[in-house]
Amino acid sequence: MAEDLPPREAMEFDVVIVGGGPAGLAAAIRLKQISPDMAVCLVEKGGEIGAHTLSGAVLEPRALNELLPDWKERGAPLDTPAGEDRFLFLTDTRAFKLPTPPQMNNHGNYIVSLGNYVRWLGQQAEALGVEIYPGFAAAEYLEEDGRIVGIATGDMGIGKDGTPTGNYQRGMELRARYTLFAEGCRGSLTQRLIERFHLRDGHDPQTYAIGIKELWEVPAENHKPGLIEHSIGWPLDRGTYGGTFLYHFGANLISYGFVVGLDYRNPWLSPFEEMQRFKTHPEVRKHFAGGRRISYGARALNEGGLQSIPTLIFPGGALIGDCAGFINNAKVKGTHTAMKSAMLAAETVAEALAGDAPAELTAYPEKLRASWVWEELSSVRNLRPVFARAGFWGGLAYSAVDTYLFRGRAPWTFHHPHRDNETLLEAEAAPKITYPKPDGVLTFDRLSSVFISNTNHEENQPAHLKLRDPGKAIGVNWDQFRSPETRYCPAGVYEIVGAEEGHPQLQINAQNCVHCKTCDIKDPTQNINWVTPEGGGGPNYPGGM
Ligand SMILES: Cc1cc2nc3c(=O)[nH]c(=O)nc-3n(C[C@H](O)[C@H](O)[C@H](O)COP(=O)(O)OP(=O)(O)OC[C@H]3O[C@@H](n4cnc5c(N)ncnc54)[C@H](O)[C@@H]3O)c2cc1C
Ligand code: SF4
Repeated sequence: MAEDLPPREAMEFDVVIVGGGPAGLAAAIRLKQISPDMAVCLVEKGGEIGAHTLSGAVLEPRALNELLPDWKERGAPLDTPAGEDRFLFLTDTRAFKLPTPPQMNNHGNYIVSLGNYVRWLGQQAEALGVEIYPGFAAAEYLEEDGRIVGIATGDMGIGKDGTPTGNYQRGMELRARYTLFAEGCRGSLTQRLIERFHLRDGHDPQTYAIGIKELWEVPAENHKPGLIEHSIGWPLDRGTYGGTFLYHFGANLISYGFVVGLDYRNPWLSPFEEMQRFKTHPEVRKHFAGGRRISYGARALNEGGLQSIPTLIFPGGALIGDCAGFINNAKVKGTHTAMKSAMLAAETVAEALAGDAPAELTAYPEKLRASWVWEELSSVRNLRPVFARAGFWGGLAYSAVDTYLFRGRAPWTFHHPHRDNETLLEAEAAPKITYPKPDGVLTFDRLSSVFISNTNHEENQPAHLKLRDPGKAIGVNWDQFRSPETRYCPAGVYEIVGAEEGHPQLQINAQNCVHCKTCDIKDPTQNINWVTPEGGGGPNYPGGM
């Protein structure tokens, strides 16, 4: 059909940035700080900056201090200084306090709403003259003579059947001398660039987790501003990597999140229901007593660390932030490293633009290797892969030795043994898990949860969740694994209908998708392809998330 469409209009910039999270915005700000006349454009698929931002979040302000040292005077929303750190191991009835590992010491950090933080970064960028276009998804990269020369935003108003409707609007070409991709974890264009330029060659596979989050408002007497509580153990079995966070911040708010490594093996596991069950623990439920849930969302996060960072540059551009994978898994933090990578890429782009001819951004990975980001990620590089090899107790024991004895300088590097889509056992070989029914007060079902993520997609558009081979939905996913997507999707997008009549069929409720990207990662045969829906679709997380 593309050849029947009218040509796209084009706009020219020095730099185009894809994604308005901490990385994209930090790059934009740094570019304009260095060169105020530079034409910088940023596109964000959320309806506004912050609409798709979901994180804990405890912010380590190191990169922010470097980017905007006067952030306090500028009114940055860093209102809750980190207070007490607690690290717990849970059994089904008890909680044991463990020594807080040094990486989890949050002294000097702040508990923030990352959504509000990026909204504020967006204002700083706009004040410097960055052109920000929220509600526009970068649907394609533009390539000429082997060089990336910008992106095209998606067409709007294409119907379900793939033909233009009355609201049809052709996408725009945003052309640039350099394009920075800051799509966050498992970016859809990033995945294509990784394939196109073989950026993963010579690097470990990326590994991931799903993070599911709720925001609660609780009575003042239950609120301990600054409290940071992490836990491991129950309700996950010892073979499944994961943990939780509870952050008390702001005006009687609690940010509660549950993280499960996507290398889990049991196809009956439901990260959503584990997350609900966790709140019923006697040591945990008291946090929520008398409170009300305000918002809900989910997002995948990178766990691979240093070994899994792909080649970062290609002709005409670079990967920055989480789409490359700079999360420090031991700290459960990636905002500071995402921002720093973006700042270093921006500095490299500014140098390249000052030259006579287009140059590759080779100085960016060099600067990164010489920066505190590399040192930090290097010191924790063995902690995640060891859990996949040595299990829960072995992993904990090794982590203590690596951290306290070797101080992160062990002379070996463990590699990630598998991709997350390769680890599921067949359904018959795995123990079934029975989850309690939600009570509607402390625990909830998926649909009422998605409702408060304010997720919305234009109904009449082609599905943005595409099956590469529709036959595998039943032939592989149902027959071998009993459709794990119906359990790992935190938004109830995937449903099996007709199983009782003996004719199971997969139904995809794409309008509920909260853009977490888990299906793109965990599907056993990588049969699910997540592509950008129309710009502005997806969750609309409120301030506070
Ligand atoms: C549950 C959870 C808890 C976390 N807790 C913490 C914490 O406590 N502290 C911490 O420091 N970090 C934490 N992190 C990690 C932190 O959120 C990330 O490291 C950080 O957000 C990375 O920033 P980014 O800009 O690279 O990506 P993102 O924040 O993911 O931003 C990417 C942006 O790009 C947009 N986008 C993607 N594709 C396109 C496209 N094709 N076109 C247009 N726009 C696009 C997205 O909508 C999004 O707004 C947590 C993450 C999760 C999921
Ligand atoms: S459909 Fe995929 S990306 Fe969307 S919410 Fe479900 S698992 Fe996440």
